[in-house]
Amino acid sequence: RIVYLNGEFLPFAEAKVPVMDRGFLFADGIYEVSAVLDGHLVDNAAHLARLDRSLGEIGIRNPHDAAEWERLQLDLVRRNGLTEGLVYMQVTRGVFERDFGFPPADTSPTVMMFTQAKTVAANPLAEKGARIITVEDLRWKRRDIKSVALLAQVLAKQQAVEAGVSEAWMVEDGAVTEGSSSTAFVITADRTLVTRPLSTALLPGITRASVLRLAAEADLRIEERLITVAEAQAAAEAFYTSASSFVMPVIEIDGNRIGDGRPGPLTRRLRELYLELARAG
Ligand code: PLP
Repeated sequence: RIVYLNGEFLPFAEAKVPVMDRGFLFADGIYEVSAVLDGHLVDNAAHLARLDRSLGEIGIRNPHDAAEWERLQLDLVRRNGLTEGLVYMQVTRGVFERDFGFPPADTSPTVMMFTQAKTVAANPLAEKGARIITVEDLRWKRRDIKSVALLAQVLAKQQAVEAGVSEAWMVEDGAVTEGSSSTAFVITADRTLVTRPLSTALLPGITRASVLRLAAEADLRIEERLITVAEAQAAAEAFYTSASSFVMPVIEIDGNRIGDGRPGPLTRRLRELYLELARAG
């Protein structure tokens, strides 16, 4: 596998970062993930716009404009012979003697990208549907920033792993914020698609935005409001979205069966519509 690191394409084993990198010491950095389908990038302009915004919010200079990022991403995809999977991008505040305050302004950010082969379209879990649990949301107050500080999500996902399920939806004040690495949705019995409104409490999901644009085609009304755990557990349909899972049907929440325990018809329709969009590039 070939990795991109600070202007070079290197074999994985040769791509090394100094121990004084602020990503390593402080999780002082930002990341993004775009899906690759049929060799092209999915929703990539929006992912690169979010990367730019996240970097701006924590005062790291974006090392590339969107056109340059995309050129590098596609170069990496080609060098790895990737047709389906993910491109991971990360930018940290760079390498400097350990000190909480920012390093000098001329410190170069550390820029890294790798690819992961993964079946994103014909995912067997999407046929079967995912079982999930709810867990407490332990995160900080700026979850709109796609920071590499992911300890709370790591612990949430590990709870899911130990429960033998696929995802954990995080809960704050009785309402679902989002999944550990996904956006949470439910569909009510009267064809209303419900998801939490954007705020600093959650990441503005790129797949979320595309799915909301597709809702009308699936003849769904949209409500952006809080979802309580009780409402989620009793929903007609539920699903989660992300660059790596697209639209993932949920068939069980905390042991409560959703619908008839199979992926719901409206969720399946949304997944099909999203796949069409993703395939079209
Ligand atoms: N919410 C969180 C906390 C995430 O980590 C992710 C993706 O990794 C998402 C939502 C989904 O975002 P996107 O659809 O942009 O991948």
